[in-house]
This record gives sequence, structure tokens and C-alpha cells, in this order.
Amino acid sequence: MLQKQPLQNKPVENSPAGITAIRRRLLHWYGRHKRDLPWRRTTDPYRIWISEIMLQQTRVAAVIPYYDRFLTLFPDPAALASAREQDLLAAWAGLGYYARARNLQKAARAIVELRGFPVDYTTLRQLPGVGDYTASAVASIAFGMPHAVLDGNVLRVLSRLVAEGGNIKSQLVRKNLGAVADTLLDRKRPGEFNQALMELGATVCLPKQPLCGQCPIRPHCQARAQGVQNQLPVNGVRPVASRRELHLLVIDQGGKVLLAERPVDSRRLAGFWELPEREQVPDAIVQRPGGEFRHTIVHTTYLVQVNRATVRRRPDGFQWIRKSALQSFPLSTTARKALACLSR
Ligand code: SF4
Repeated sequence: MLQKQPLQNKPVENSPAGITAIRRRLLHWYGRHKRDLPWRRTTDPYRIWISEIMLQQTRVAAVIPYYDRFLTLFPDPAALASAREQDLLAAWAGLGYYARARNLQKAARAIVELRGFPVDYTTLRQLPGVGDYTASAVASIAFGMPHAVLDGNVLRVLSRLVAEGGNIKSQLVRKNLGAVADTLLDRKRPGEFNQALMELGATVCLPKQPLCGQCPIRPHCQARAQGVQNQLPVNGVRPVASRRELHLLVIDQGGKVLLAERPVDSRRLAGFWELPEREQVPDAIVQRPGGEFRHTIVHTTYLVQVNRATVRRRPDGFQWIRKSALQSFPLSTTARKALACLSR
């Protein structure tokens, strides 16, 4: 256990030669092993920014089809700024964390007012939805500015590199690892260096079983030298996962289906459309059998039961929406899964 055997936590490298060696090894490895991803084929700050926002909380494989489609629909800040909310949400539907899409549009409007993409870190950082990580990523990748990024992958790699045994969620530990990232950053190639560190975390320095045998910086890694790479980073307590049951109804007639729009002040999915829950339509006549599926949102897993049903009259708060329009309609992922579940 970490507590019984204190880690030998040292500064990243005491000699400039050691730091230069880490940079050289990492950049060489990145040049040979980086994945060919669409946003790595451009230096357009708009496209890089869109990819960075999409990649927050979402896996690379899930983002790729959305990225291409989104940029076809909204190829520049002006197109995004003037998009209808309904079209924007439909293009984002399935990616989750919808505040990201709304902030993208607010930021696009600010960029249009600025008459161009901001080329300095401070203005970038002030755009809606742009935090330290995104501002550093766009500044370094698109403009070659020397700002080190600190995302989950980078924190994991650095915590192992220096054998950081403190809780990675604490502000102090993050500050220390931020200083390590600053020290290591290659000022001549900051964008590539940042991406190399993130790529190492995503493909080699994996959360559970790091592939140290394939790692270009293993001679410098203090966690590996001490044999504690599988115990780092220290993550603190995980939130308890919960389960909930949900019973949805698919009520359709005359080529239309009954849906309700979530209120604009909803904490989640404002502006998206949902199927009725069983309790919302108590006099519906439910048909059986139906279908079921699971859907996880953050730490809650929903066990969703779906049935077709009929009603005599349209319940308050719901509207009949043409099925032919649903493809480009901002449906919640749960509603989309429920409709697909019954059409199998
Ligand atoms: Fe991660 Fe292993 Fe490389 Fe250390 S040697 S940085 S633990 S992959």
C-alpha cells in the first residue's frame, strides 16, 4: 500500500539534459505512433476548438463522426453563430453534456463580433465554455503558443512520471503537476508536445495497466522505477453509482408521435424532446409486450421499459410530431433509444 511504503517523489528531472531527453523521446515517439485523427490534419483554430470541446468527456471514436458532420453543417464561426438552436442540438444529439453545444454557439457569436478568431490566450480564455485546458490546447496547437495542457490523460502520465502519491483531485497536487507540465513543455513545438503527452496517456500510459514496455519515457519514470505505476494516480473516493427505473410510452397515430419539449430552465437537456413517462399519461392504454434497455447518465444507470400505447386525447404539455421529421429533430438519447428499441 502507498501509505506503508512512502513514494520517493522527486522533481521531474534535475538536469536540463534530462528534460531535453524526455522532450526528444516523446516527440520522436509521437511522430511515429500518433493516431491519424481528423483534427490533426488542420491548423484552423475553429476546427481545433470544435474538436477540443467535443472531446471533453467523450471518447475519440464517438467524436469522429460527429466532428465531420458538425463541420459540414457549420463550417465556420458565422455559420455556427446563426444556426437555429433546433439544428444545433440535433447535430449534437448523442454527444451528451449539451451545455457544450450552447456555449459553442455563444462563443461563435463572440468570435463574429470580434471579427475573427482570437489569437491571444486571454481573449480565448474569456470565450464561453473555454477553460484553462481548452484555451491552452487551442493556443498551443493552432498558434504555437507556449501553454501546457493539463487534462485527465496528462495528469495521469505526469503523476506517474514524478511518482506523485497525493490525491490527483486536490488543488495542490494539480498545481504541482501543472508546474511539472510547464517545466517539460517544449517551447519550440508546444502544440505537438501537448498532443504527444495526451496521446501517451490515451494509448500507452493507460489507467489500469500502463504499457510501460512501449513507453518512450520509461527510463525517466519514477513510478515504474519504484514498481508503483498500477497504484497511481491516487484518485480519492469514487461517487456511488445508482440505478433508477423508467417506463416510457411510444404513443403514435397518423404518422405522428407524442413528445414533450424539456423546459428551457432544465438542468439537463433543455430544449430536447422526450417521450412521455407512464405516470404522465395515467389514462393511456398500454400494449404489451414492449422492450427494454439500459442507459447510463453520469453515475446513474436507468433501466428503461418501453411500451406502445394509445390515448383518446392529447395530454397537456405534449405535442404530435411527424415521424418523418424525427431524424433531424433534437430528441434526447433516451427517446431515440426507446423508439429504436420498438422498431427492432
Ligand atoms: Fe506511464 Fe509506464 Fe510510461 Fe511510466 S513508464 S509514464 S507508468 S507508461
